[in-house]
Amino acid sequence: MAKPKVATTSLCGCFGCHMSILDIDDRILKLVELVDFDKSPIDDIKEFTGPVDIGLIEGGCANEENVRVLQDFRKHCKILISVGDCAINGGIPAMRNMIPLKECLEEAYLNGPTVHNPSGKIPNDVEIPLLLNKVYPAHEVVKIDYHLPGCPPPADTIWEALVALLNNKQLDLPYELIKYD
Ligand code: SF4
Repeated sequence: MAKPKVATTSLCGCFGCHMSILDIDDRILKLVELVDFDKSPIDDIKEFTGPVDIGLIEGGCANEENVRVLQDFRKHCKILISVGDCAINGGIPAMRNMIPLKECLEEAYLNGPTVHNPSGKIPNDVEIPLLLNKVYPAHEVVKIDYHLPGCPPPADTIWEALVALLNNKQLDLPYELIKYD
């Protein structure tokens, strides 16, 4: 029988949540017995090969490419999970939400105390994904089925959530695994 499929992506995140997935240590061997990984930085599969049972989203949406990838995940994944605070509320990248985008770009490329930019230009190559006016949490862009809080969520939280959902059980994690403090 075909194994359930899992896909993962990092949008505007730091890959710390992916490190937490790998932090399940030797249970990773059990995980690869339980599931096949589809599109994911873990196996470097770049495009979906078909429908997927569980999609794990790290990071919020800071640019148009993040939005496109997230919509693609929603289209392909039966269950979509926001993993970590960046996916859930934008996290540290969302600190720019209080400052106009123009000001952020000028500080980063023109006026910042450590900037060396003899061209005096803000990069605008067509290859660079367009920044959004602010960083959006994943659930403001597509429907998200579950949220796993933390920065990053502990490996045990991710493991327990995956095992429960793969066994068609209610996601009823104990407080110790979902607390913020
Ligand atoms: S929630 Fe924390 S660990 Fe995860 S991507 Fe954001 S900053 Fe990194």
